[in-house]
Amino acid sequence: METIKIVIAGARGRMGSEAVKLVEETEHFSLVAVVDHKYDGMSLKELSGFEVDVPIYSDIDKCFFETNPDVLIDLTTPEIGKIHTKKALENGVRPVVGTTGFSESDLAELEELTNEKGIGAIIAPNFAIGAILMMKFSQMAAKYFQDVEIIEQHHDQKLDAPSGTGLKTAEMISAVREEKQQGHPNEAETLEGARGANFKGIRLHSVRLPGLIAHQEVLFGGDGQTLKLRHDSYNRASFMSGVKLAVENVMKIDLLVYGLENIIE
Ligand code: NAP
Repeated sequence: METIKIVIAGARGRMGSEAVKLVEETEHFSLVAVVDHKYDGMSLKELSGFEVDVPIYSDIDKCFFETNPDVLIDLTTPEIGKIHTKKALENGVRPVVGTTGFSESDLAELEELTNEKGIGAIIAPNFAIGAILMMKFSQMAAKYFQDVEIIEQHHDQKLDAPSGTGLKTAEMISAVREEKQQGHPNEAETLEGARGANFKGIRLHSVRLPGLIAHQEVLFGGDGQTLKLRHDSYNRASFMSGVKLAVENVMKIDLLVYGLENIIE
């Protein structure tokens, strides 16, 4: 298998450091550089916790020009992730983006740029295969259960709410569900936000607590019965098989794929 040359943005982060390990452990992956807003010009191995000797760049254009990678893995912040994804596409580098918090208009803009450049791009709000299955099973269940609410739970360092997975689940459910406003038609919140966010009538609740990683429950209600679909990520390694799959797949496509569910059977 041909070696895939990879740059990681956000390598010092919780997800990024796992991605560095993944790339190091995968025979046909090669880490050529990292992009970081700190430590420009240093080697990654000078930073504690890393052994790999690759350059750190603060200027992403310079990084792409000098290291000529095939793929950028971005695991940063919503604002930065969007800039990096655009820069990657402009430089002919295929982005694999785990960073969450992209809006519909961000995605539309990136899709247009991907089509213009004719290369692959994958944006996946959740790389955990179990979470992808939870979303798919939720879509199946929604054909039979119209009444549904979503509770997503994450660590309290997460910057965006609702989670990308929560939103994506609501989108997938609403694609097969006849639109319905969940709850009593005359319900009133005596405390603002009590009923959560509203996506086409589906209520989405975001819990943020230390100790959590990434968890989601999709609750369906019917006459005299409920159905609960739950997924838990207990550590960030749970996301890495999905990152690997995305890097391999992004080399074979020439369009933007949003959501790993579109590349797994
Ligand atoms: P994190 O630990 O805060 O890591 C983010 C890293 O990005 C930090 O090292 C940060 O550096 C760095 N960074 C900030 N600005 C940068 C810039 N301009 N250039 C390069 N690096 C920059 O966050 P995390 O938990 O790893 O999460 C990262 C992203 O992945 C978030 O959007 C999160 O929601 C998402 N996520 C996705 C999945 C998935 O399966 N798709 C799963 C979990 C998390 P400083 O610390 O110095 O600011």
